[in-house]
Amino acid sequence: MEKVFRIYNTLTRKKEEFKPLHPPMVGMYVCGPTVYGEPHLGHARGAITFDVVFRYLKHLGYKVRYVRNVTDVGHLEGDLDHGEDKVSKRARLEKLEPMEIVQHYTNQYRINMMRLNVLSPSIEPTASGHIMEQQDLVERILEKGYAYEAKGSVYFDVEKYSREHHYGKLSGRKIDDLLSNTRELEKQDDKKSPLDFAIWKNADPEHLMRWPSRWGDGFPGWHVECSVMSSKYLGEEFDIHGGGMDLLFPHHECEIAQTVAGYGKESVRYWMHNNMITLNGQKMSKSLGNTIDLEQFFSGDHKLLEKDFSPMTIRFFMLQAHYRSTLDFSNDALIAAEKGLERLFEGIANLDKISTSESPGKEINIAERAFFDAMNDDFNTPVAIAHLFDGIKTINSAFAGDGSFTDDDIKHWKSFYNAAVGDVLGLRAHREKEGNDVLSDRLIGLLLQMRTDARKNKDFVMADRIRDEMTGLGIEVKDTKDGFEWKLTK
Ligand code: ZN
Repeated sequence: MEKVFRIYNTLTRKKEEFKPLHPPMVGMYVCGPTVYGEPHLGHARGAITFDVVFRYLKHLGYKVRYVRNVTDVGHLEGDLDHGEDKVSKRARLEKLEPMEIVQHYTNQYRINMMRLNVLSPSIEPTASGHIMEQQDLVERILEKGYAYEAKGSVYFDVEKYSREHHYGKLSGRKIDDLLSNTRELEKQDDKKSPLDFAIWKNADPEHLMRWPSRWGDGFPGWHVECSVMSSKYLGEEFDIHGGGMDLLFPHHECEIAQTVAGYGKESVRYWMHNNMITLNGQKMSKSLGNTIDLEQFFSGDHKLLEKDFSPMTIRFFMLQAHYRSTLDFSNDALIAAEKGLERLFEGIANLDKISTSESPGKEINIAERAFFDAMNDDFNTPVAIAHLFDGIKTINSAFAGDGSFTDDDIKHWKSFYNAAVGDVLGLRAHREKEGNDVLSDRLIGLLLQMRTDARKNKDFVMADRIRDEMTGLGIEVKDTKDGFEWKLTK
């Protein structure tokens, strides 16, 4: 397999040939969820986008270390330096410990991602598990003179930084515009400039999530965790950093500034951003109150949904748009995706029913080459999928009696569709009726989570027992370097 492919780099604003720093290793860091609410369609889009990148890199033969963090502290409402911590707020509302909220929604996220056939990343570090490392980066930035302390908080000095470096290079924002837009909004902080952002934040007496530091009790600024955890697990320079478009500014812009100020150089080779999901042309977001939880899609229990949609329909729907395009949600589009997915798997199943002959079959390589050409062009899944359907047309016409294949042709087509549809796009065939699917997917997700927890607690007897019981039920679980994979054998 030729390993040449092009990737759109948000930093340079063009497609570049992908050249990893240390082949065959590829380091990839993706900003994961802030765990304070039910996972929704937006979560699915980010996770599926980078799952396909992860799968495709592995398909090309790279060894990928994929780090996706869990934000469990420091992400304040409105993404700014004031307001309540999102996790704390939820804890207060539900009368639970913040870490109970974190555990609950992390579990929900993982179970939902499993149902969407999103592979587990290689490492899933949490912000709260890396407080010391974050304090260390804050210290470094202070030492280098790019931050200052004010009333127990430490702020990044954007104006000083931007005299020597290009603040705004990723998002394209300009300091002057930012200044005129923010002056009014953020007067309540003890900052020298409204552009400055907290890298350590003093905790008010009633603030629940707090850690001691030499600046007093507080918590890390939201952006710090990603600078710290990416460099800790992938080194000071690594290949791909991904996230949603909504993280371009301020999150990723601040991350670059912190990394340059603290470690002395930029760490990321390729910045990748997936676009947003819209609902009737409007951004889907918690603050606008127009999100639909994944669970609601799977059950159909939401006023905007005409019916329930399986995880695979959601996944296929997402992949039918390029990750850099917005994707507008509608019932019709999902129903079309459901039908399309059925047609795809019906066509693949027809491979088993075609009568074979000795004479050479139709040209089989066109769809295959076109599929990989599209994937090599910045992971263009909609075009790649269109070529899968070109192949299906040929299969179906052979099935209908127009032409035939040799045994070798059939073998080749099967292995191509397995690789393209299963390994790369991560799609699975629907099983029987939807209602049972939803329940069994949830039960499988639950068992897998229990097994993961057992392994984490070194209870290998229990972990093996769960796996054996699942094997007995026709669910094969295989441990891999990156976690595990599962499939139905019955
Ligand atoms: Zn991040």
